[in-house]
Amino acid sequence: MTGGAGYIGSHTVLQLTDQGYDVVVVDDLSRGYKDAVDPKLLRVLDIHDTAGLVRVFEEKPCDAVIHFAAFIAVGESMRLPEIYFANNVAGSLSLFTAMVKTGVKHAVFSSTAAVYGMPKTSPISEDLPYAPINPYGESKAMTERILNWFDRIHELRSVCLRYFNASGADPDGRAGERHDPETHLIPLLLRAVKTGEPVNVFGDDYPTPDGTCIRDYIHVTDLAQAHILAVEALLKGAPSKKFNVGTGKGFSVREVIQSVERVTGQKVPYVISPRREGDPPELVADSGRLQKTLGWSPQFPDLDQIVATAWNFALK
Ligand code: UDP
Repeated sequence: MTGGAGYIGSHTVLQLTDQGYDVVVVDDLSRGYKDAVDPKLLRVLDIHDTAGLVRVFEEKPCDAVIHFAAFIAVGESMRLPEIYFANNVAGSLSLFTAMVKTGVKHAVFSSTAAVYGMPKTSPISEDLPYAPINPYGESKAMTERILNWFDRIHELRSVCLRYFNASGADPDGRAGERHDPETHLIPLLLRAVKTGEPVNVFGDDYPTPDGTCIRDYIHVTDLAQAHILAVEALLKGAPSKKFNVGTGKGFSVREVIQSVERVTGQKVPYVISPRREGDPPELVADSGRLQKTLGWSPQFPDLDQIVATAWNFALK
């Protein structure tokens, strides 16, 4: 696994080890946290180091790679597109090259709903065209396309998982969300409850029932489980495929605020601010393909449950 010291990666390591899988984590710790992963599993390495990756695969032959390592901040990608294409696209290419060199034929790739840009329909199906509106989404779309060619030419089979809004924390409190700087709604709302510093609600004049943006919040443990099902399908010979990962249910920013208030029993201080550039009014997944093909279903579809696991981690 690459990026196993990050948010979704560290939760997937826990799920894999809980289920008896043997895992090696490659992470350069540029954005991840050393203490998020068992030191016995960790190799500190930059994914641009193809020769280093080849050595890891030779030392520790593996059946499949789950590739998380990437930069994820949309706003940063609008200021520094070069680091997004270098890290997310060239870094992925380095990894896939090392896989081909050592005969590792299965990859699960951490993709994003940002490949769809500002879709006009909801819920979103995988059949919509690529239409990213920022370098982050573009970097993921480009990497998906590289995987299409590696499938065709090198028989490297892959599953691309297009995440909606990953949220929550390990239900046993062993891991949680830690981004620096934090830009995601739920951890910011929880921080506001703790510090009393108001959160900016980015726009209340969207064409949605309460005027705030609607998103599909998916519990990180459910997201992690989708990766494991994808690896298992690939190992059984499944063809390459792209899937949305979301619950199919959308919540507005105001509804998330209400959920945080129910869970914490405290008022969330917030102010209505201007819209954030590039925010579509509504992003909700049609995850029917994932449910039918991989037999996945969310174990934590309830927003309050998602928020409760995040709050439990935030209190630590
Ligand atoms: N949001 C907000 N204030 C914040 C952060 C986020 O109002 O400080 C809104 C944002 O506009 C979006 C939703 O919360 O509608 C989720 O944003 P987040 O950055 O968590 O995820 P994204 O949907 O951008 O991937």
